[in-house]
Order: sequence, then C-alpha cells, then structure tokens
Amino acid sequence: MNAVAFGATSIKGATVALSGKEKVLVCGKCLRAACWYGEFMCDDAQGADLKILQVNDLRKLNREHEDFWTDEKMIEIYGDADRTFNT
Ligand SMILES: [Zn+2]
Repeated sequence: MNAVAFGATSIKGATVALSGKEKVLVCGKCLRAACWYGEFMCDDAQGADLKILQVNDLRKLNREHEDFWTDEKMIEIYGDADRTFNT
C-alpha cells in the first residue's frame, strides 16, 4: 500500500469509508459542502448560513458525492480532519 502524505499529518486508513457519524460543514441553503467550498455554488450561497450535518444525514439528502465529506477533503479545505470547524 502506498502511503499518501498530507503535509506533516499522517492519516491512518485515509481511504476507509465514512462511518456516517462524521460532521461536515455545509451551506445552510442547499446543504452541500461543495457549495461552502466554492466548488459548486448554489443561487443562495451569498450570505447563506453554514450548517453542521452528519454524514448519515447527508447520505439521506443525497445531494453530492461522499468525496466531499472525506477526511482527505477536510484536510484539503481546512488543513486537518478534526472537524471542529470553529464556528
Ligand atoms: Zn449552497
């Protein structure tokens, strides 16, 4: 297995599936993380509140791919995957 380095942080099992309990910060209007990241912005993104949802809830909504909720994505966006978000 090739180890993938994320800066100074070593991630154990970076490719494991999400358990469903992970928290994800999403746009409060369209409930998509990609919108908050600025990758696919919705019409109401300007001034929209942010919401913290669990992966389980996001799976039920089924509005975007799980790739946007992974630890790898958290590190790409926030620099770490502790999901505290400091809101
Ligand atoms: Zn949005």
